[in-house]
Order: sequence, then C-alpha cells, then structure tokens
Amino acid sequence: MKRANPKIVGVLRCSCGAVMEVRERSNGKKLLYTYCPNCKLDQRSGDQIQEQWRNTMLPPGTELPPVETAPPESAPKTLPNKTESAAIEGEWIPPEDLAPGAEPKQEETKFNGKMVAGGLGVLALFSALAFGLTRIIRGGA
Ligand SMILES: [Zn+2]
Repeated sequence: MKRANPKIVGVLRCSCGAVMEVRERSNGKKLLYTYCPNCKLDQRSGDQIQEQWRNTMLPPGTELPPVETAPPESAPKTLPNKTESAAIEGEWIPPEDLAPGAEPKQEETKFNGKMVAGGLGVLALFSALAFGLTRIIRGGA
C-alpha cells in the first residue's frame, strides 16, 4: 500500500519553540497528530489534546510569530555616579588633615573622664549601699 503524504491541516508552536505541523490521520477517526522537528510525533488521541490542537492551530503556511524571548531591555542605567563619588570624597578626607591633633582628642578625653567619674560615682554609691546593707543585716541579727 502506498503511503500517502501526510495531510497537514495546520501549524502550531511546539512547547520546545519549534514550529510543528498538525496533521490529520487519513484513516479511522481523522485524529490529529503533530510533528515537531525536535520532539517528533505526538499522537495523543485524548479529547482534550485533540481539541486543543484543533482550536489553536493556524492554517498551514502561517508564519508563526517568533518565540517571545525576554527582550534584552537595555539595562536601566544606574546613574549614581555623582552621589557615589560624593560619598567617596566625603569619606576620603583623612582625619589628620582636619585639625592637627587637638579637637577630636579633647572630646575623647572629656568623654573618658565623664565615664570614669560616672563609674566612680556608681561604685561609691554601690559601696555605700553595700555598707549600709551590711550594717542593717548585722544590726538586725
Ligand atoms: Zn518540539
């Protein structure tokens, strides 16, 4: 028996991206099947896939729109060059260049002095409390 040329009834975009032919079987129930150059034959006969092919296929010869690839959108140019350089400039000034020695050091000393004084004060207070407590406990006993 001579094999008839497949009857192409439509074209579809295969899930692999290639254009596949939708063909109709010449015998039986005239089921559709598809042929993709990559995926080869798909002869599923389920109602759902048959319906889908029938509804989505385009007439043979239709040029299918190219697969939508993510368009290489020109990357949004981040333009923080100005702020960046400004920040760098701000950071760049070495502390020694501000005022030779003096000011920051004084600040530091003052701060430390306060800390020491505060610490001493707390210590003294604590000692007094402890002393008082000891006295109370001793006195009560
Ligand atoms: Zn395919």
